[in-house]
Amino acid sequence: MKCLECNNKLTHAEHTKSMENYGVELCNRHRLRIDQLVLTKSTPKEAIQLYYALKEAGIAAMLEWWDGKKSVDLAINRVKLNIEIDTNYNTITHEQAILDLEEAMHSFKSGFTTIRIPHVVVKYYLKDTVKNIQGIVEGLKVNIKVIT
Ligand SMILES: [Zn+2]
Repeated sequence: MKCLECNNKLTHAEHTKSMENYGVELCNRHRLRIDQLVLTKSTPKEAIQLYYALKEAGIAAMLEWWDGKKSVDLAINRVKLNIEIDTNYNTITHEQAILDLEEAMHSFKSGFTTIRIPHVVVKYYLKDTVKNIQGIVEGLKVNIKVIT
């Protein structure tokens, strides 16, 4: 039981608390940092789980990255990939859907790719989600090489 952020050994209480809250192993200091993020940005739990799963797979992402207009749940800046976790996927309204599409258009125009992942996919298929993101990152890398 080690903190995924600092590698410090976790106490039983620390482990229980961070697993209960986020399903990832964090020491108190680093859990409080995530608490703060969730409080100020309403970061979905699944974004945090995905962030650490990506980190484990060697992909450096950023949580709540500010793209100049809005905060993106997860961003992999090296390949200009933004990842949004949809928490209300089942109840998406047509207004939200057109806003999402517009947002995707704006990010494409500035060279970013945005993918939206329903939170249940992260919850039930975390490994597959990471594998697919790895594939997307590889694909984007190849495209960037072609352009530059
Ligand atoms: Zn820590």
